Amino acid sequence: MNPALLLLIDVQRIDVKIDALDKQRAQAAEKLNGLKKKLDETKLQLAQLEQQTAEKDRERRAIDGNLGLDVGKLKKWEARLNEIRNQREYLALSREIETQKKQNAEQQEKMAVLSNEIKDVNLKLETLRDSFAELEVDTDSEQEAVNGKLKELDVQLAEHKKERSEFLSQVPAPLLKRYDTIRSKRGAALAPCFSGRCSACNMSLAPQLYNTVIRGDSIEACPSCHRIIYYREPEKSAEVQA
Ligand SMILES: [Zn+2]
Repeated sequence: MNPALLLLIDVQRIDVKIDALDKQRAQAAEKLNGLKKKLDETKLQLAQLEQQTAEKDRERRAIDGNLGLDVGKLKKWEARLNEIRNQREYLALSREIETQKKQNAEQQEKMAVLSNEIKDVNLKLETLRDSFAELEVDTDSEQEAVNGKLKELDVQLAEHKKERSEFLSQVPAPLLKRYDTIRSKRGAALAPCFSGRCSACNMSLAPQLYNTVIRGDSIEACPSCHRIIYYREPEKSAEVQA
C-alpha cells in the first residue's frame, strides 16, 4: 500500500483514541461543573434564608423595644387614673388606656407571629446547612476523583499526541492538509472499503475505482463522502452482519 496512506491509517487510529479521551475529559469536567453549580445554588439559598431570619429578628426587636415603652406608659396612666376625681377626665383617660391596651396586644400578637416565622426559617436553615455540608463533602471527593482522572487522561493524551506527531512528520504536507480538512468536517478522514462499497457512507464504488483502491498505490477519495479511501478485508463480525 502507498506508504503515506499507511501512515494516515495509523494517524487515524490514534485520532480515534484522542477523540475518545477528549470526550471523557469533557464529561468529567461537566460532571464536576454540575456539582459546583448545585453547591453555588445552595449557598445562595442559605444566604437568602439567613437574610430573611435577620430581617425578621430586627423587626421583632424593634417591636419589643416599643412595646416596653408602651407598657411603661400604660402603668403610669393607670396610676394616674386612681388619682383623678373629675369624671370627664377619668373617662377620657380610661378610653386612652383601653386603646393603648388594644394596641399593645396587637403588637404582642405581631411579635408572636414573627417568632413563629423565625422558628420556621431557622428550621429550614438547619436542614439546608446539613445538605450543604454533605454536598460540599461530595463535591470535594468528586473533585479529587475528577482531578486524578483528568491527570491520567492528560498523560494518555500527551502520549497519543506525541505518537501522532511522529507519524505526521512523515506525511507529505498537502496530504496532511487534506486529511485535517476532511477530519474537521466529517470526524474521520479515512474510510475503509470492502465489498465494493465505502464503509463510511455505504455508497457503491465504480468497479474501476474499487480496483484502484484494492491495489492501494494511489491516494483515492470516495466520490460521495470525499473521505480518503483504502481497502480493508472485511472483519469477521462485519461478514456475519452482512
Ligand atoms: Zn464514502
